[in-house]
Amino acid sequence: MSNMLTQSEQEIGIEVLPPHRGEPATILGNFAATQLLNDLVISMDLDGGQEFKGICLTPAGARLVRLKLRQWIDRGGLIGAKTSWVPRELTAVLHCFNKVSERATDTIYVDTSEDPETILRHELAHFAQRMLCKFDDDAEDVDAIAFLEHPIAQKAAAVLVRDYGYPDEPRVLSAEIGANLSQGPSGAEKMELTMDEGAELAELYFSALVAKHGAAAYRFRSAILLT
Ligand SMILES: [Zn+2]
Repeated sequence: MSNMLTQSEQEIGIEVLPPHRGEPATILGNFAATQLLNDLVISMDLDGGQEFKGICLTPAGARLVRLKLRQWIDRGGLIGAKTSWVPRELTAVLHCFNKVSERATDTIYVDTSEDPETILRHELAHFAQRMLCKFDDDAEDVDAIAFLEHPIAQKAAAVLVRDYGYPDEPRVLSAEIGANLSQGPSGAEKMELTMDEGAELAELYFSALVAKHGAAAYRFRSAILLT
């Protein structure tokens, strides 16, 4: 990806989807909006410093993004990031975060420039994981160390660490594997698994969710497991 965007590439397009009951708020943004948010979130060190196409933010996370946007607007722009952003561009994004910050639920951001449905499914799985942990007051979606002992899980985790820069932390890797498996065939592919391996690992992941959270896991079955 080049460091500079042309004038037309930098045109911000962003909107908030009307939320459904119990679901996270959703913000859809074009390529430029995603770049702006990446620059902002990376400057805040909120998501491990990786580039993202989608992100699931807690209400506190969304409020932090809003605060940071306001600070940058007050300072006259976001300067020193990969791309410089002027207050008008930042304000377009702030407008959407103002809307979602009034809500008590999580916010999912999706880049619409490339396969938004897959990104949305991936982030909805992270939302479902977070809801399960919240119900049980638990920090983990599954017993991550046990889950990662399976050879297929090990293979997937190794790819995520090596090629995608994820930290070698069991809790992070199990959640990421679960979200990738939920996004559809491209998730297995991303982790260099065959379709059979992907299906087997998805079964295993869901069993691990049920083992940890019991019946509550079934409430989120469709969000976490497509097969
Ligand atoms: Zn993820």
